[in-house]
Amino acid sequence: MQTAQLLVGLDVGGTKTAALLADARGNTLAQAVVATYTATPDELLGTISRAIRTVLAEVHATPRQIQSIGMGVPGQVDPATGIVQLAVNLNLQRYPLGPAISARFKTPTFLENDVRTAAIGAFNHLRQTEPVQSIAYVSIGTGLAAGMILNGRLHRGHNGMAGEIGHMIVEPGGVRCNCGQYGCLETFVAGPAIVRQLIAAVPEMQNTIRNAGDVYAAAVQGNAAAQAVVQRVGQHLSRAIQWLVMMYDVEKIVIGGGVARSGDAFLDPIRQELAQLRQHSPLAAELLREEKLHLMPPDYNPGLWGAVQLAMGGGR
Ligand SMILES: [Zn+2]
Repeated sequence: MQTAQLLVGLDVGGTKTAALLADARGNTLAQAVVATYTATPDELLGTISRAIRTVLAEVHATPRQIQSIGMGVPGQVDPATGIVQLAVNLNLQRYPLGPAISARFKTPTFLENDVRTAAIGAFNHLRQTEPVQSIAYVSIGTGLAAGMILNGRLHRGHNGMAGEIGHMIVEPGGVRCNCGQYGCLETFVAGPAIVRQLIAAVPEMQNTIRNAGDVYAAAVQGNAAAQAVVQRVGQHLSRAIQWLVMMYDVEKIVIGGGVARSGDAFLDPIRQELAQLRQHSPLAAELLREEKLHLMPPDYNPGLWGAVQLAMGGGR
């Protein structure tokens, strides 16, 4: 491994940063997760450097062996310049993150928004088994957003934010969202929103429900209030899926993110809602088939593999 042929993929998050080191064929050589520090841009650079050095150390490699670096960043980025326009969770505004990492490791660095990066990863994962061309990757975690791959290419939109469905208003005058609007889809279906709805209905569960996974577990165990919440989440998400299909006519809707890890408990309410739509409408029966939905397997990390793809020159 003397020549520069290693690829580094990074998923830079507000609380932790994950790195994956791959060879030119796409085999995993090492993985690491480090805590993210964001008080200053220098601290963030330190975090990213630590993640990269950790995976290099695992295979006794040096920075000179890196061919290129790909990075998914939670916010608005300009892939052409490597500038992060705005990433609230990373405390960055108009910051040249790509050039800064390039200078530190003396290697090309490619940036993209994190959900769009994961969409590239999900697309490549699917392509290993079927020749899909257009997908929507829906990520449900602390927030909700979709990444669109249309006709084999990432669809970024004018500001690189195409697919920000979490901030579509579904209940005017509803709960205030982090974005400042009221009644966004995200205020119903993102992880914190799912927890909030159950605790609002049953305040005494406050100490036992920590995350959306707990809400889904309670629903499986027969808790009626939790069942009502996950049913409502299923209604909202099935509608969002219907919008995405009607707007973009994609072949697959791929679902990932922390909330989706609840598996069938998460997916069943969505499946039920879509089945009802199909029952009453030939249009829905044609366009919203059961096989349209694809849950990302928990052992595949689309954010990291999408970042490796960015490093390889994918998504451009
Ligand atoms: Zn919003």
